[in-house]
Amino acid sequence: MPLWIGPMNAHLNGHKELTSHNEIVTVKPKGEVYIPLSNGNNAAVEVLVKEGDKVKVGTLLAKRSVPFVVPIYSSVSGTVGVVKSMMHAVMRPCDHLVIVSDGKFEKAQSFSPIDYTSATRDELVDFIMNSGLMGCGGAGFPTYIKYKNPVNIHTLIINAVECEPYITADYRTMKEFLDDLIYGTKALLKASTAKEAIIAIKKNKVEVCTKIQALLANEPQIKLFMTPDKYPMGWERTLVYEFTHKRYDKLPSEIGVIVNNATTAIALAQSLKYGSAIDEKIITFSGDGLKHPVNVKVPYGTTVKEIVEAIGGYSAEDVLVIAGGPMMGKTIPTDNFVITSYSNAITILKTTPQEAIPCMRCGRCNDTCPAGLLPVRINNAEAVADLDLIVKLAADQCIECGMCSYICPSRIDVTEGVRRAKRALMLRKK
Ligand code: SF4
Ligand code: SF4
Repeated sequence: MPLWIGPMNAHLNGHKELTSHNEIVTVKPKGEVYIPLSNGNNAAVEVLVKEGDKVKVGTLLAKRSVPFVVPIYSSVSGTVGVVKSMMHAVMRPCDHLVIVSDGKFEKAQSFSPIDYTSATRDELVDFIMNSGLMGCGGAGFPTYIKYKNPVNIHTLIINAVECEPYITADYRTMKEFLDDLIYGTKALLKASTAKEAIIAIKKNKVEVCTKIQALLANEPQIKLFMTPDKYPMGWERTLVYEFTHKRYDKLPSEIGVIVNNATTAIALAQSLKYGSAIDEKIITFSGDGLKHPVNVKVPYGTTVKEIVEAIGGYSAEDVLVIAGGPMMGKTIPTDNFVITSYSNAITILKTTPQEAIPCMRCGRCNDTCPAGLLPVRINNAEAVADLDLIVKLAADQCIECGMCSYICPSRIDVTEGVRRAKRALMLRKK
């Protein structure tokens, strides 16, 4: 573990105005959707339907049980097709179940709604598990895991910071469903056993902050925590430190904290109220590579290609398609991959090829790394395959925030070098 957290003094040009003022646009897939059966790791999955079966929105299609329970629901009504391998947003091919939409979006009652106030904590955690809720911040970790066996948890942090440039999906979702944000926070608070919850949000979101504050007038257990507009303030480790002034090694639960994204709380509230599985996602499509950047509400399993066509297409012939934001996202060499239930953004940028020049040893990447690492030294160690030095330099602690590449005056993709170093460490462990 690095001894310190690096400086949080980077105010980036957010480009958030491209989408933050526009209404959310609903996109419905016209033909097939492709439901990912894993997170790109091809974990064992039990498919519960067969080719030709009729399904509705919310029909249980498949279930993974190892290492975590993950039920997988249909996002459209229609007919089950074949299983096919496609690129996943994590940049690995994996199996997807084809569902041919009938265009009706007929809904199944996936489970009975429950009132979290009268449900026991165990019933609530079981509900979260069976709903298939995944952390909506982009990581895709099953939500129930954090609540299964909470030990000495004192604070639940609802992360509404959304610090990465271009992304405004959480902001727009919160604006639309503020009551559900509070409802879901209260349900998660009960599941967490914590005494208090805080909703963390950037202080420049004045309108939403004011509305949340009004809604919290009679909720003494929940407080609003306004953070500076810095990057990467929404990184879990930074946010927890900003609030508690404490550090942890692997998980915030080590210091009595659970963190969940604001849209996870909203999705849970809607599942609890309506007994519906997670079947659609509000996601930011932004960047100068699009004619009309906008937040879209779309059934998961819809391809990026279809969504881009529906919102007006690309603004240039050569574009970079990034699953996620420009700092932490992954560049995918195709738009034929799908939105998952935990995707938060697709960033499309015009390509502006720029040659890198040799490192000028300015040290800016080291000074800026929020994880307190020495990215240029990790790059050098990776270049000569010095795995012992890579371990010593704690490359595994890199959160892939992209700051070292962003700041580099030589235009070196320093982050990619650190990623390669991390991959080399993982290969050695195997
Ligand atoms: S991407 Fe670069 S700046 Fe960000 S944590 Fe990793 S090494 Fe540090
Ligand atoms: S910021 Fe770029 S030029 Fe400066 S030390 Fe790091 S890699 Fe070298």
